[in-house]
Amino acid sequence: MYDAIIIGGGLGGLTVAIELARKGFSVIVIEKHTYPFHKVCGEYISNEVRSYVEHIGLDLNRLGASNIDKFQLTSITGKSLHSPLEMGGFGISRFTLDFELYKIALGLGVSFELNASVEDTQRINEAFFVDTNTNKTFHAKILIGSYGKRAKVDKIIKRPIPKQQTSYLGVKYHISIDYPKDLISLHNFEGGYCGISAIENNKYCLCYLTATANLKNKSNIKQMEEEVLYKNPFLKEIFIKADFLFTKPEVINEVVFVSKSQVHENVIMVGDSAGLITPLAGNGMSIAIRSGFFAAQLIQDFLLGNLTRTELEKLYITIWNTNFKNQLWRGRQLQRLFGKEKTSEFAINFLKRIPVLMPFVIRSTHGKVLEF
Ligand SMILES: Cc1cc2nc3c(=O)[nH]c(=O)nc-3n(C[C@H](O)[C@H](O)[C@H](O)COP(=O)(O)OP(=O)(O)OC[C@H]3O[C@@H](n4cnc5c(N)ncnc54)[C@H](O)[C@@H]3O)c2cc1C
Repeated sequence: MYDAIIIGGGLGGLTVAIELARKGFSVIVIEKHTYPFHKVCGEYISNEVRSYVEHIGLDLNRLGASNIDKFQLTSITGKSLHSPLEMGGFGISRFTLDFELYKIALGLGVSFELNASVEDTQRINEAFFVDTNTNKTFHAKILIGSYGKRAKVDKIIKRPIPKQQTSYLGVKYHISIDYPKDLISLHNFEGGYCGISAIENNKYCLCYLTATANLKNKSNIKQMEEEVLYKNPFLKEIFIKADFLFTKPEVINEVVFVSKSQVHENVIMVGDSAGLITPLAGNGMSIAIRSGFFAAQLIQDFLLGNLTRTELEKLYITIWNTNFKNQLWRGRQLQRLFGKEKTSEFAINFLKRIPVLMPFVIRSTHGKVLEF
């Protein structure tokens, strides 16, 4: 019997695994893929977690992460606004970041069941039993849900997720282009927005979120890009000038930003499984790491007998709400302004007129630094 089973080895799951293993608990991570692998994400990570990831052994300089402290926002018709990024962040691909954290976890003795998908979970008395499509069953005292934005495990554990009116699609490329390394740009287009920023090895991540309706009546993603994204002149120029390094884009569909429960049937949810912030905030990775860190501290107390299961769950929900609930709400409100010509134009004109507002808006989508 393991102390903990973690479903999903993204940033949230790996953080819980590393934190528990550091304290000597036995942990297994069940992950659908084999590291390293690409993932749809803008790959700009807030400095809120820089000192934490360095503390657990990530050498950002060696990995070639870019340092980003400038922000550009453009409207659908190409109006542009520049602002410094108060806290700033760094750019690193998920291919590298998740792989490096996986290696740190392995070094601490974390077990991995890779290329394995969770098929069923059951709780019998005080133990959780998890079946995988690799025909294995694992059992543990605690079960953590860190399976990201995907809903398959939600169905397995019968977790109700509210419906969202608009359905979104995420698309990511790595590109090579002559572009500033210290800048993250967010370019609006009808029904979505596209981020571009530097990662390691002189590459850039170009990633966008679009209403799925944009794909309707288009034969493929390329046609949608040419007919919808190219209307923003900044995007058109980037798409035309860039060398695209993937043979095909990474795509994820059914992205939802609805409120979710942080504990369901005694499963502790971290990262996107607990709530996904709209990508324009550039804060989802930080939330995954911070929520994983907070969950792990409480789980340690539970495993040591200092907290009951009920106390653990109540405390975790309180900590989640205190740290993330309002931030996620503000992200959803801001997203409403973007991706529509009139409102994005209005927002950019307004922010241009009162420049002191911009740092305030950026701050509102960010959280506290995890200090080490
Ligand atoms: C378009 C887009 C752009 C974004 N850009 C940014 C950005 O620039 N900066 C930022 O901070 N955030 C960004 N985000 C958000 C960020 O990607 C997420 O918040 C972050 O990845 C959450 O980490 P996680 O560990 O919760 O989930 P994930 O990183 O998604 O990890 C979940 C893991 O669970 C595994 N899994 C899923 N189901 C199963 C199963 N049944 N069995 C086993 N394993 C399973 C998956 O393979 C995956 O590895 C963006 C999101 C989108 C959609």
